[in-house]
Formats: sequence, C-alpha cells, structure tokens
Amino acid sequence: MQLAVVGSGYVGLVAGACFADLGHDVIVVDNDQKKLAALNRGEVPIHENFLPELLERHRGTRIRFSDDLQNAVRASKAIFVAVGTPPTHQGEADLSYVESVARGIAGAIDSYKVVVEKSTVPVYTSDWVRKIILRNGAEHGEFDVASNPEFLREGTAVTDFLYPDRIVIGADTGRCAAVLREIYAPLVEGSYYLRPDVIPRPDRAQIPPPLIATSAKSAELIKHASNAFLAMKISFINAVASICESVGANVQQVREGIGTDTRIGSRFLNPGIGYGGSCFPKDLMAFRSVARESGYDFRLLDEVMRINEDQRVRFIRKVRSALWTLRGKKLGVLGLAFKGGTDDIRESPSILLIKSLLQEGCQVCAYDPAAHERAKEELNASIDFAETPYEAARGADALLILTEWEEFAALDLRQLRSEMKYPIVIDGRNLYDPEIMAAAGYTYYSVGRPAASPEPLPSAKTPTVGKKTHS
Ligand code: NAD
Repeated sequence: MQLAVVGSGYVGLVAGACFADLGHDVIVVDNDQKKLAALNRGEVPIHENFLPELLERHRGTRIRFSDDLQNAVRASKAIFVAVGTPPTHQGEADLSYVESVARGIAGAIDSYKVVVEKSTVPVYTSDWVRKIILRNGAEHGEFDVASNPEFLREGTAVTDFLYPDRIVIGADTGRCAAVLREIYAPLVEGSYYLRPDVIPRPDRAQIPPPLIATSAKSAELIKHASNAFLAMKISFINAVASICESVGANVQQVREGIGTDTRIGSRFLNPGIGYGGSCFPKDLMAFRSVARESGYDFRLLDEVMRINEDQRVRFIRKVRSALWTLRGKKLGVLGLAFKGGTDDIRESPSILLIKSLLQEGCQVCAYDPAAHERAKEELNASIDFAETPYEAARGADALLILTEWEEFAALDLRQLRSEMKYPIVIDGRNLYDPEIMAAAGYTYYSVGRPAASPEPLPSAKTPTVGKKTHS
C-alpha cells in the first residue's frame, strides 16, 4: 500500500523504514530541511539498531523522503502522523504540530484517506483532527481518523515495531479498520516472519502479535495508560529501594521476590535514578491534565512523578556523602542518553544530574557511546567529553554510572581503577555486584543496596541518605 508518514523522528523514521520492510511504499515527510538533506544523502540521523540496514535496503525504492505533504497525501491511502507532542508550560500536550499537519492534509484529500495518529496524543484528539480536516475543506466520508499508538522503545525500536507485544488499532468505522488491518497483515498473519531477510527475532517475541481493535478514543487512552502504568512500576521499585537503603535491605533481592510473582512480573522493576526520555515525563503530565479535564483528579500520577524527581535528589545526596564536599571535585560520568541503546538525551536523568553537579561546583568528564553530539548542544562547553569510559575516569574523585549501556556493565575493573584518583564508583543503574566491586578494590554505592568497600564503611547502613526521603 502507498503510505505517508509525517515526521521523521524516532517514531516516524522507524515506522517508515519498517512499513517499507513489510512491503509498503512509503513517503516520509518532514519540514526539517536539514534532516531531509541528511536522509537523502544516506545518513541516519538517529542511533537505532537495524535502522541503517532497513534504510539502506529500501532507500530510493520503497522509501522516499520529502517536504511535500500535499503530494504525499494525494499519493497515499493512509497518512500516519508521527510529529512531536511536547509538553506545554502547563504540562498539557502541545498539539499544534498535529493541528498544522491536519490542516495540511485537509487541503490535499482527493479520495478516501485514513489519517492515523501515531503520535502519543490525549483522548479526544481524533475528534479534533476530524474537525480540523472538515473545517479546512474536506468532505464527510472522504476520510477517517484512526489512532494507532506506537509502543516502541528507543534502543530497540526496530525490533519493537516488527515484533510488537500487540498492535492497537483504534478505528470508528469498518472501512478505516480494514485499511489498518491490511497494513499490518504481514505481521498479524505472520508472513513477514517467514522471509529469509527478516530482522532477527528478539527474545520473548510473540509471533504473530495480537491485533487489538478498539474505538479511536480507547486507543488514545491505552497509550497514556500504558506509559503511566510503566512509570508507576519504576517509581514503585524506587520507593521500595529507598526503604531498603534506610533499613539495610537489598532491593535486588526484594525485586526478585516481587517480580517472580507472575501477576507482577520483573520487567520495569529496575531501581535507579528514575525514568526520563521524551515520553514518560511528558505523557504522565498530559495524562494527568486529560484526567483533570474529564473531572478526575489522578493523584496517583502526582506521586509517581514526585518519587521520580526525588530519586535524582537522593542520588546527588549519595554523591555528596561519598565525597563529603562537591566543589572542585572531578567526576567521571558514564552515560548521557536517557537509556542505553539510544542517542536521545531528552529529559535524560543523566543530563539533569550533570547540571545539578555543575551547579554544585563539580567538574565533569563524560563518556557515552552515542549521545555526545546531542549532549554537546545541550551542555555547551560546560563538561569535557571522553573517547572511552577509562578516559572519563582518568584522575576522577569518583565515577558515576548514569545510563545502562551494556558496555558499562563489562568494564575492565583493574584498568578503570588504575585511571582513577580514588576508586569510588556511584552506580545509578545497579550494573555491578557490590561484593565484586569491593573485592576489586572499589568503594561502591548503588541504589537500594548496601554500599560495599574493601575497608569497613563508617556505618553499617548505606551511608548516603539516612532516613530522609524528601528533598
Ligand atoms: P521527534 O521529535 O524525534 O520527531 C518529530 C519529527 O516531526 C521531527 O523530525 C520534526 O521535524 C517533524 N515535524 C514536526 N512538525 C512537522 C510538520 N508540520 N510537518 C512535517 N514534519 C514535522 O519525535 P518522536 O520521538 O519521533 O515522537 C513523535 C511522537 O511519537 C510523539 O508524540 C511521541 O510521544 C510519540 N512516541 C515516541 C516514542 C519514542 O520512543 N520516541 C515512542 C512512542 C511514541
């Protein structure tokens, strides 16, 4: 099928490349000329596994890049809107990009089209998109608006798209639902997985994925509710980790005990420095606003957000109690991206922590496998960038692990130690076993687990945040 995808960001570009791999012809539309030029030169503007391969496979044949929305709409049966929906100052979703695309689509509708919300949007957006398209000249019956939320995670976006846990299609007419079913048929019917050049199957993939057909409003709610629930799991385990620190328990053991209950599950129960990224923080705020407007005060979400912010404050306190004073201290930092496997630094806990540490007078030298360029734009010249984890650790008073990149869990501990001024590691992602770190000569702090050191530490308790849980 001929498809248009509007927005060539983390979602649009991946969706476009994957639709092409499913056999569709795709025009990816963006209004960012720099991005388009880079894509047309064969560059891949984001770091995402398998994306370069897919773009290479289909560039110039099944996938094209353009700034001409009108032509793309005229050529396509379905138009996926995957533009950003950032937060406003009040925490609502800013839908002005979606609105502008809807206006642009309206003027080009010349036969039946399905306009699909791929962006994460509040419930009722489909009604608004429909109104805007009608106001701008399209006729009833010439188009439908559907919601097809995207659940991919950055870092594993391509495999998440091609091996999803489920595909949700929120369509209010049979005609519209049929178009969406046809688009996803290679996945839902399983033919895609039989191809010799299929993108490799990840662990845990359910083949074929179930397709869940709902109303457009339900689909919009499914996305916000899913993200809110996942963020709640993270904040829950972080709250438990704080109690572990106060009583000297080990959150890793507690987590295993909780997570093996199949009703709960262990995924998204990783304690750390809190969630970040371009989705959870903004989607929780937007969901809270939607709930409020509908007359429901969703205070559970306030608490999820409060615990998340508190987690960063607790981490800074941990650094301070490990080093006593912060002014002038040299810190090595591993990780700038908001999670491993991506170069995305939007709402990255690491960047937020670095900014706080700079305000405290620390010097920072950071290493990240993919996010240097974006971090340089955000942090200007306020920190140094290293070429390797060992260079980041060179001469450091302490090393902070802030992103869970796989390579950070496999460091040569002897080499690392030889680089550092003091062998102190403060791990915000619990990548190491405290006993192994102590045996390797480190004083090691992590989240929700007792600190470890070759020398006895001053207190039996994690000597970091005491009993105080609020900033
Ligand atoms: P992004 O900022 O990476 O990409 C958005 C793209 O849209 C940009 O390239 C921008 O230039 C383009 N754009 C903006 N206005 C445009 C217009 N009028 N015409 C054409 N192009 C336009 O954003 P993203 O991370 O891809 O997220 C897009 C949406 O998907 C958001 O609603 C987000 O919440 C949702 N989402 C994101 C993820 C994720 O992991 N990033 C996962 C699921 C859902």
